[in-house]
Amino acid sequence: MNTASISGLVLAGGRGTRMGSVDKGLQAFGGSTMVAHVLARLRPQVANVAINANQNLDAYGAFGVPVWPDDTPGFAGPLAGLEAGLRRCATTYLLAVPCDSPFLPSDLAERLLAGLAAAGADLALAVTEENGLRQPHPVFCLVKADKAEVLSAYLAAGGRRMDGWYPQLKVTEVLFEDAAAFRNINTLDELRGLDPSRPLKLAEVVSCLSAYDPDALPVRDAQKIIRDFVAPVRSTEQVALRAALGRVLAADITSPINVPAHDNSAMDGYALRGSDLPADGDLRLRVIDTVYAGRASSVVPAAGECVRIMTGGVMPAGCDSVVPQEFVREEDGVIVMAPGTIRPGDNRRFAGEDLKAGSAALRKGKVIRPADLGLLASLGVAEVPVQRRLRVAFFSTGDELRSIGQPLDEGCVYDSNRYTIYGMLQRLGCDIIDMGVVRDDPAALEAALREACENADAIITSGGVSVGAADYTKQIMARLGDVTFWKIGMRPGRPLAFGRIASGGKSAFLFGLPGNPVAVMVSFYFFAREALLRMMGAEAPLPLLRARSVGAIRKKPGRTEYQRGVLARGEDGMPEVMITGSQGSGILRSMSEANCMVVLHDEQASVQAGEMVDVLMFEGLV
Ligand code: AMP
Ligand code: MG
Repeated sequence: MNTASISGLVLAGGRGTRMGSVDKGLQAFGGSTMVAHVLARLRPQVANVAINANQNLDAYGAFGVPVWPDDTPGFAGPLAGLEAGLRRCATTYLLAVPCDSPFLPSDLAERLLAGLAAAGADLALAVTEENGLRQPHPVFCLVKADKAEVLSAYLAAGGRRMDGWYPQLKVTEVLFEDAAAFRNINTLDELRGLDPSRPLKLAEVVSCLSAYDPDALPVRDAQKIIRDFVAPVRSTEQVALRAALGRVLAADITSPINVPAHDNSAMDGYALRGSDLPADGDLRLRVIDTVYAGRASSVVPAAGECVRIMTGGVMPAGCDSVVPQEFVREEDGVIVMAPGTIRPGDNRRFAGEDLKAGSAALRKGKVIRPADLGLLASLGVAEVPVQRRLRVAFFSTGDELRSIGQPLDEGCVYDSNRYTIYGMLQRLGCDIIDMGVVRDDPAALEAALREACENADAIITSGGVSVGAADYTKQIMARLGDVTFWKIGMRPGRPLAFGRIASGGKSAFLFGLPGNPVAVMVSFYFFAREALLRMMGAEAPLPLLRARSVGAIRKKPGRTEYQRGVLARGEDGMPEVMITGSQGSGILRSMSEANCMVVLHDEQASVQAGEMVDVLMFEGLV
């Protein structure tokens, strides 16, 4: 067998829509690109290689191999790529492989050629067997180059199916054992799934958007990129039940017992046998014992008897109903009740009604609230596995900032952002590292970012990410890692830096929030909050509510606007929201007066008085 008779062709001519309209072959993978991996495996198997591509021809050309676009126009699919290859093929055979199969078998050419020769075929394709099913891989195929004209005729007639031209050929299948070797990668999740320990690159995440302009990024795209990019911190600890309040549950909790453990009474009254209840006429039952909650009784009432029972008391054997005490008269150890007072089965709680033994009581990822503490206590759970607290370092940047206690020099302002950020992080239950104010000085900024990175899971900065002249923050951030700078279609809070930086062998996610005091809060709530929760292993999307707008609100379509509002009950009892005074992005007072933010989405235009709008409450009952 002579592989010198084979030319290799990497099919990379697709639009890559599933990867977000980027060239799949150029996707980052395993330290280089997907196509680089394919080339590395294909090259040793064949005499020469070429790439079929229809976009980014220069990027493909950089691999030092010929790049051939389709001859058949209009992204006609892999068969058109095969056509381009066959027409230019200078050897007897052409071996085609897709650009997104970085694990292709190292004996692909040799075995397909052997199969083709043995069968005297024109085309050999790879097949695998998965769960007893034959799985053909028609884009992994070896074809005689002299079949170019047959293929061209098929394409010219409008044919597009990989196997559509097989009737005009002699085709053979070659079985390969290792199905995983034919695995192709179509989505970001697949990419991440292959190697979960490999951190994603921002470029990979961004490439999954259908359009991307960092200078005019819609809010929901920014949120999606952030959501896809951050990864949970995989570290858990076991804490005493009370200490679990506000923490994120790290494992499902299954109930070890039935709750309640026994059938019991929901009322203070008399436990009786439902079969004793008469269709008409008064019912008279003899009271033979009393059952208190927590004190078991072994009495078994016979027909015509009942047991006085307290709420929570275990139902005596044979009893299935409880009549509340206020519905009966008791005379000399006998109760009398009117017909139709209760039905059989009333006022009885079943064992396991709240929770059955072995069923999931709480799910991993839940932020533990007071009700959950109670639930866990009701199961007798003393210790709870929780995610370790997220460590978040933060600092403010700006030469004009003064800390409390310092004199306020001319032109200076007190640093308020560190206090709002402190408050918001505290509420999220993070471990907080307050690094103070950092001057607009490259060395100071670099030192602060490095220190933050080496000590925290996430870093939050404020200021210095807008176009301001004295802001070195951006340059330093970019130098320390994979950081992108956005202008987001929103108001307030257009600039945002986001990414991951590395220092001293550690890495941390970075949120470079704008400097304006309101913008910093809005950016925190709408971008950082969910990301930090995800890093903590919790899923907690923003709980947006609907409320009626009391007044008209002016709004430009094409960007998201956040207005500070006060939500209250209207006269008709329905929630209504009123915008607080001035909405300037530096005016913290109107933020402090507000109890919610009104969220006016991109596509929304001005709001009429009385129209419904989305609101985000600042506080929830916990
Ligand atoms: P910058 O994004 O750095 O250009 O800052 C924008 C505006 O926000 C400027 O007026 C800053 O003085 C103000 N600012 C920045 N950081 C803070 C802070 N930590 N506290 C209060 N105001 C700030
Ligand atoms: Mg500044």
